[in-house]
Amino acid sequence: MIRTFSSNAGAEPEEATTLPCPLCGAMETRGEWPAQGIAFKRCSTCGLWRQDPQPHAQAIVARYGDDYLAYETARHMEYRGIALRSLSEAGLEPARSSASDGRRLSVLEIGCATGALLSVFAEAGWAATGVEVGPSMAAYARSVFGLNVVQGTIETAGLPASTCDAVVATHLVEHLNDPRSFLREVRRTLRHDGALWLVTPNADGFQARLKGAHWRSAIRDHLYLFSVRTLGALLSAEGFSVDHVGTWGGWPAGMRPLFLKKPVDAAAKRLGWGDVMVIRATIKARKRQEPAWNT
Ligand SMILES: [Zn+2]
Repeated sequence: MIRTFSSNAGAEPEEATTLPCPLCGAMETRGEWPAQGIAFKRCSTCGLWRQDPQPHAQAIVARYGDDYLAYETARHMEYRGIALRSLSEAGLEPARSSASDGRRLSVLEIGCATGALLSVFAEAGWAATGVEVGPSMAAYARSVFGLNVVQGTIETAGLPASTCDAVVATHLVEHLNDPRSFLREVRRTLRHDGALWLVTPNADGFQARLKGAHWRSAIRDHLYLFSVRTLGALLSAEGFSVDHVGTWGGWPAGMRPLFLKKPVDAAAKRLGWGDVMVIRATIKARKRQEPAWNT
């Protein structure tokens, strides 16, 4: 079983603030998962789970140091395999690196970590750019994979508008204080016929429903826990249309009775109750256009 990285709190206490729901603006919550000394609370209006109170963005960035690099480099090839499978199911194939008119396609990975996934696209001929908040990770991606990586967030990276065919962010959106500003910036960088792929834990999945506060994704580095419905609503509010949803992972690995794993995994995938989801979204007003990345 893959353990989700959860950084340890530093010696310095972190400030935390109660924020309104980024999806509907409500302050009221109903339902709570107390976990690891923090709490996830569910918006009483729209159902989005948010960590409350929330640590500030600067404190979160400071958590991603050399221990995170060591965690990632131990597992990045395994993660890359999982990410490539889910992206492929959602229509994004690294091997398809040019548009029908021969134009070279461009990919932006936000939160590219060591660059293991992005390097597959670069090697296949895509114009590849990464954005990574952790300085040691960004340096690793540049030196080991030779990638073009901007260190910072998508909001500070200052990338040109309307240039990306594909924007990919795996296990990122649940870590951000302000997922709406992230989506706005993604929308600005996308070409009108481009698409966004998001991979994030599924708060409506079988494991989340079964385990609640003990769910492996209810950890202090996750600021929001999305479902297909709440992430879809957030995307819609920022001008995106969801045109593909997939989920995977059902019965927890190693949990008894073991014989239930195969049928529950298959059922979870079919019903959309998988533990992790991939969502592909395109810019709303341009949905009818033929997408460049799928020619
Ligand atoms: Zn809400």
